[in-house]
Amino acid sequence: TRVTLQERPPEEITPTTFKQETVPFDLKPGRGQILVKILYLSLDPALRGFIKDQRSYMRPVQIGEVMRGHAFGEVIEAGPGSKYKVGDIVEGGFGWTEYGVFDDKVAEKIEHQPGLDILDFLGPLGTTGLTAYFGLLDVGKIKAGETLVVSGAAGATGSIVCQIGKKKGAKVVAIAGSVEKCQWLEKDLGVDKALNYKSPSFYDDFKKEVGYLDVFFDNVGGDILNFALTRLNQKARIVLCGAISDYNKAKPKGLSSYLNLISQRARIEGFIILDYAPRYAEARKEIAEWLKEGSLKRRFHVVQGLQNAAQAMNLLFTGGNTGKLVVQVSQT
Ligand code: NDP
Repeated sequence: TRVTLQERPPEEITPTTFKQETVPFDLKPGRGQILVKILYLSLDPALRGFIKDQRSYMRPVQIGEVMRGHAFGEVIEAGPGSKYKVGDIVEGGFGWTEYGVFDDKVAEKIEHQPGLDILDFLGPLGTTGLTAYFGLLDVGKIKAGETLVVSGAAGATGSIVCQIGKKKGAKVVAIAGSVEKCQWLEKDLGVDKALNYKSPSFYDDFKKEVGYLDVFFDNVGGDILNFALTRLNQKARIVLCGAISDYNKAKPKGLSSYLNLISQRARIEGFIILDYAPRYAEARKEIAEWLKEGSLKRRFHVVQGLQNAAQAMNLLFTGGNTGKLVVQVSQT
């Protein structure tokens, strides 16, 4: 049995999005291949993106294709020359299927260690755990004593982010969607505070508990991101990990194109020119040279008289100016 993509859902996944097919079992691994019986399949929000016909970091799953998905399974037959043997547990992007033949190179052997659960390889040791680790440490650059806010905190990624945050000495405020999840986060995972975003007092609670934040690890996007952006300390880092509140929307309201930041690994970073004051001289020197040699062009839009200044301000908003808008207040 396998599951293929039947149609692209405009919003939520529906019963007709996928099609379950039973096909005759005639799988035989060739040279350097293995026949794998899938044991566990990882379900990830990213899959919702893969069934949209859009540019992203992976090509979309095509209609009629077996649905993409990360999984692990047991090798039940190894083809000639395969580096795996029967009984090996391997992981890979095997897709939504019960059995499949795969090239050795798309599979990786799981070395099960005592003290670990085999499912850890799809969780904290899998994509979501690694996302939490690198997202928080490499992108977020969390430091001891800083305030970390995590959305989607009770999920696979968020729950690891919260705990790494605590390990690194941050104050951690978690955001999740139920009282039970908040209790788990506070009592078992040890976050400093968990906030239920479905509570009517959520935004007030956020202000009260967080104050201002240094790192926002965002799995959710939408309104929560929008609000978190009003609570930044200087030099705060926003880790745009995901925006699950938008994935099912045909036309996400408000911010939507910012999802491209994720797929293109792009970064939004604020800056204030005043911070560069110590380097103004160096810049001016170079710009002056460009002006003098004529390689830098400029234009001015000059309005006469201070009395016209207020009205001229509107030019900036109507686009009435080309180049630099100035007011000539008096003649030399
Ligand atoms: P989770 O285990 O966190 O599951 C998703 C959770 O999101 C749900 O449990 C739900 O929890 C919450 N959620 C769903 N809809 C909404 C909504 N409208 N508003 C607020 N919360 C919502 O999934 P993952 O850990 O696998 O993924 C989490 C995020 O990380 C996703 O956005 C995913 O795309 C992203 N990701 C990004 C990667 C990257 O490389 N950038 C890699 C892996 C994941 P609740 O009850 O709290 O609402």
